[in-house]
Amino acid sequence: MRVLTVVGARPQFIKAATVSRAIADRSDLDEVMVHTGQHFDDNMSEVFFRELGIAKPAHHLGIGGGSHGENTGRMLEALERVMREEAPDAVLVYGDTNSTLAGALAAAKLLVPVVHVEAGLRSFNRAMPEEINRVLTDHVSALLLTPTSQAVRNLAAEGISGAPVVNVGDVMFDAALYFGQRAETASTILDRLSLRGGAFWLATVHRQENTDRPERLARILAGLSRAPVPVVLPVHPRTRRRIEEQGGRLPGNVVAVEPLGYLDMVMLEKNASLIVTDSGGVQKEAYFHRVPCLTLRDETEWVELVELGWNRLAPPLGEGFLAAFERNYGPGRDGAFPYGRGNAAAQVAEAIATGLTPWHTGRS
Ligand code: UDP
Repeated sequence: MRVLTVVGARPQFIKAATVSRAIADRSDLDEVMVHTGQHFDDNMSEVFFRELGIAKPAHHLGIGGGSHGENTGRMLEALERVMREEAPDAVLVYGDTNSTLAGALAAAKLLVPVVHVEAGLRSFNRAMPEEINRVLTDHVSALLLTPTSQAVRNLAAEGISGAPVVNVGDVMFDAALYFGQRAETASTILDRLSLRGGAFWLATVHRQENTDRPERLARILAGLSRAPVPVVLPVHPRTRRRIEEQGGRLPGNVVAVEPLGYLDMVMLEKNASLIVTDSGGVQKEAYFHRVPCLTLRDETEWVELVELGWNRLAPPLGEGFLAAFERNYGPGRDGAFPYGRGNAAAQVAEAIATGLTPWHTGRS
């Protein structure tokens, strides 16, 4: 079976790194990788292909920038052309970006079954572009591979249940286990930044709801300024642009660095005493590496982390936001496996090979 995978943004490269390896291990699956170009800087894209051993994409569409509609529309058009040329049996998409939606829509219109990895996540906040992308992608997917049982319940509440939904676990847990070990020997970031384990915080900020609303961004920077230790902040390109446009300044205790490769990022995550983030992936990685996390959002899709006590929501405009940076956070509960056992990627490959019926693939 020929699987065409659409990736385009940083978290998708990390997810694809684990699944592509599992697909390559099987003789019944072939993969063609398409990079939309949504993220294009070396440190937002190429570094992941180099470091994580992902095969070079067969097609690079070079579509970055522009408004959401423009960007998604151009991808849709280009992806349809590639899908006609490659004639895949299934199209594999990850997560919730414009590349995810464009890939899913192009495939569904060509009657090619869509496989969605990380299906069923919901923030229930339709003001997030990611939420729109997730909901629409799930509703045109033939196979919905969920990371958590909460995601299964979310889909059921929208009338999607039964055979097309398979709870495979979280492929990012696989990545954290595999690359977490490699980072210990491969990353030199602690030396490069003269950091001691346990004596710094790690922060990331990139969600549009935070970067594009000056009052939220200003509060976040004010919060970080209260940290009792240095805060390492790999600055996402959008965040850097917005801070400059808004005439903001980074607090003196913030160590701003360019976006990092995954191995350096994981090494910082493992050694930070607290992680402060609005990223979905980083919230979970904090838990995978057992570091307490403060989430700069009004809600989270990853509710298990809050229930287990490893993560706390800190809504930037909420009362008590600044005080949240002055508290000590201990570990949460252990012993649960909300994201599976670290073999999600193999289960994704198995579900693709066996879970699509002849009706889906048009073969008998
Ligand atoms: N990440 C990285 N370098 C960075 C910041 C993040 O490798 O400088 C990784 C991070 O470890 C996680 C993923 O990128 O695996 C998260 O991506 P992002 O925060 O862009 O997206 P989200 O998870 O919110 O969709």
